[in-house]
Amino acid sequence: MKFKSINFTCKNCGAPLRFSPIEQSLKCEFCQSTELIDSSLEKIKEYDLDKALKELNRQNKKEIIKEVKCSKCSATFTMTPYSFSSNCPYCGTPAIIDFVKEITPKSLIPFKLSQKEAREAFKKWIGSLWFAPSKLNKFLADNDKLKGYYLPHWTYDAKTVSNYYGQRGDIYYVTVEKTVIVDGREVRQSVQEQRIRWTPVSGRVHNDFDDITIGASKTIPYNILDNLAPWYTKKLVPFNNKYLVGFNSEEYTIELDNGFELAKVKMNSVIRQSVRNDIGGDQQQILSLKTNYHDTSYKNVLFPIWIAKFKWKQKNYNYAINAQTGKVSGERPYSWLKIALVAGTLSTGVGGAVYIDEHPQVIEKASKVLHLLSVNFS
Ligand SMILES: [Zn+2]
Ligand SMILES: [Zn+2]
Repeated sequence: MKFKSINFTCKNCGAPLRFSPIEQSLKCEFCQSTELIDSSLEKIKEYDLDKALKELNRQNKKEIIKEVKCSKCSATFTMTPYSFSSNCPYCGTPAIIDFVKEITPKSLIPFKLSQKEAREAFKKWIGSLWFAPSKLNKFLADNDKLKGYYLPHWTYDAKTVSNYYGQRGDIYYVTVEKTVIVDGREVRQSVQEQRIRWTPVSGRVHNDFDDITIGASKTIPYNILDNLAPWYTKKLVPFNNKYLVGFNSEEYTIELDNGFELAKVKMNSVIRQSVRNDIGGDQQQILSLKTNYHDTSYKNVLFPIWIAKFKWKQKNYNYAINAQTGKVSGERPYSWLKIALVAGTLSTGVGGAVYIDEHPQVIEKASKVLHLLSVNFS
């Protein structure tokens, strides 16, 4: 499929403009003149999740090959099927094309960290983890440059009502007579021993969730993307393609419904904590938990991320930097999901007790989603 691309040119000299994170406006690399982006007063809207899921066309669409004609040098090049903003590989001119997905981003967080600032953040992070300062500069010189991406995310809002039953454990002490050895001789002594009194409990907790963010891209491993959170969604601005000029931008490759399954894992851990607080006492067992989600809404948004790979001892590592906050996320042996998955496996094996806790199901669904999508998370 052929696509026409657009770019923005300098009023002064006609050279292509790019979005500058430092200036928060479009900038010409040749004559340095800048062009402001009109700020929009449009409100950031939430969209009804149930309605969208009903209306979405579930047919498996074939991925299209995007042939893009550069508006500057007229060369034709291809973009990845989910990309809609990039640079011409021949002349470097920014190219933005139309969306192909049904849901398009209506808001975004503009790049705040420049490439230089991102590199500094990475240097600090990698230096503290891996390298002596003397070896760091050579290592950095040998490795990839950072590339700027606007990666798609879903945000979900939900009100939840959860019914539970379980047990509350209260610690008490009893005095018991024990034989102990003092100076090589057996003596009878009374000692305090801890016991737990378990009482059956049941109840209901309410939780409201606002902007649970879920990465909707497979460009970097899932846990690296997720670990870039938190994102400050109060800083979202209405979509305007001028913010994208010069950066790579992608449409979602993790669908709306699958994203919600992943969001449920995050909500579930908050819900379980609020159940524990509600039960009170010294220890808690959750034997049954059933959650209803209502007033669910979503947004499709773009978040700014600097991405690169580096090579170390014959192995490639991915890393990314949150270009709103400067948080660095790199390949590490753990992730929230992995922890949740391990916890899920453990809790299903407890003493053969019969219960209908939804927790293992929520985890299982989420891990299936990741598996089906063959999302790699290390
Ligand atoms: Zn210019
Ligand atoms: Zn070109």
